[in-house]
Amino acid sequence: MTTNPQPSASIDTSRAHPARVYDWLLGGKDNYPVDEAVGQKLPPEARDAARQNRQFMHRAAAWLAKEGIDQFLDIGTGIPTEPNLHQIVQNVVPSAKVVYTDNDPIVLRHAEALLISRPEGATDYIQADVRDPEAIVRHARHVLDFDRPVALSLIALMHFISDEQGAHGIVRALVDTLPSGSYLILSHAASDLYPDLVEQVVAEYARGGIRLAFRTRPEVERFFDGLDLVPPGLVTATEWFATTPAPEPEGSGIYSGVARIR
Ligand code: SAH
Repeated sequence: MTTNPQPSASIDTSRAHPARVYDWLLGGKDNYPVDEAVGQKLPPEARDAARQNRQFMHRAAAWLAKEGIDQFLDIGTGIPTEPNLHQIVQNVVPSAKVVYTDNDPIVLRHAEALLISRPEGATDYIQADVRDPEAIVRHARHVLDFDRPVALSLIALMHFISDEQGAHGIVRALVDTLPSGSYLILSHAASDLYPDLVEQVVAEYARGGIRLAFRTRPEVERFFDGLDLVPPGLVTATEWFATTPAPEPEGSGIYSGVARIR
């Protein structure tokens, strides 16, 4: 028998969870039949979108580390999938510090695996909801120095937060805690690129009990209001710094961007 010291870490296998459906889409093993049932009904393009989104994270994190950013606050981390963000950035800057946050107890269960930092750097984990930005920042301040630039990553997260829940205000509140020279990395499912697929995806997630708030390009652009998008600007996941374009460039339904905070 195992004992669980964290009551908040109990895993509900009676309904689908975003982190576990995403894990299934990426070909991971940390999901349950309820999650797979949602994933199986999605169009195959959903698996491409998950992979393309993850690869955007790889490129954006590596680029920022090469720019000299050594502090990262990653919210909506997901179930660990190698390479994880700290592995990418510590590969460039071994002393980099990464604070991870997710509201799903299954991610907490894997936090120990996530917490294996290089000895020169640091990683930390907080179970929290992005809708409580103050709690996240309060915790992150124990590890990160908010007087120096921090990269805030909200990757494939904000389409789980509706306008009624104040999605744009939440991002604004987080960005406002960061000093000049910090960055926002954000990716977000598009509602206006492949409308037929979007309808199917939103309906299947809803059947699984998960509400999605996919957004149009102008709605996603608003997350970057007042910030300076770095080239190539707000593009789709496969276009962000795609230095070796495929002969037939792969389409993507995920808007992706990195912006500097003034
Ligand atoms: N950022 C990772 C994982 C994306 S999946 C990547 O791009 O590869 C989306 C993640 O957001 C899931 O792990 C889910 O549990 C988390 N999430 C959803 N709603 C959240 C909320 N309100 N607060 C914090 N995390 C949330």
